[in-house]
Amino acid sequence: MRILVVEDEPKVARFLERGLRQQSYAVDVAPDGPEGLHLARENGYDLIVLDVMLPGIDGFSVLRELRRQQEQPRVLMLTARDGVHDRVRGLDLGADDYLVKPFDLDEFLARVRALLRRSGTDAPLLLTVADLELDPRTRSVRRAGQPVELTAKPFAILDLLMRRAGEVVTRAELAEHVWDRFFDPFSNVIDVTMHQLRDKVDRGFSPRLIHTVRGVGYVLRDAKGPPSR
Ligand code: CA
Repeated sequence: MRILVVEDEPKVARFLERGLRQQSYAVDVAPDGPEGLHLARENGYDLIVLDVMLPGIDGFSVLRELRRQQEQPRVLMLTARDGVHDRVRGLDLGADDYLVKPFDLDEFLARVRALLRRSGTDAPLLLTVADLELDPRTRSVRRAGQPVELTAKPFAILDLLMRRAGEVVTRAELAEHVWDRFFDPFSNVIDVTMHQLRDKVDRGFSPRLIHTVRGVGYVLRDAKGPPSR
């Protein structure tokens, strides 16, 4: 899951970025409206966290522009304590939710999870494929009942593969949803991370669940499913 944070206060931006990264989300940060809009148009975000008071272009105008696009990411607006009108206006313009500053990190992360759950396929609370389980709330993974410890990137990949179980997820999609704007397309970081993930999830277990679709990407499926191409 990839998230864009548009926030001009460096302290708040860092606080949100750190909190989101700890939950294995890929995060980009924009310090003003124009940069936020530029990144939003450039990349396929699953969620945009959008401050109202921004230099350049304010949050409302950014939101209005976003809603003209074909791709519609979820938007969580951050408003000032006494900005009742801001909240109403944000919701009218198509924000999916808002949070009043100051807020605590746990509440913020809970809203983020709720919005990501709502987006696209209504993902169930517990993702299951064969004997593999992933709980997005506790960020825990089990295979055949045994806990599997994953670091941030392998976890984020597995989360994406499980949400789209049986479908091929391309390398470009992995790069877009799991990595941030500093992803180097010429590096072998996807291969390295896939290797780490397979080592934890498939090694010593049967059947193998993660399959390579050569030249395209990866698919996670139960052996009983259709054969990979
Ligand atoms: Ca601000």
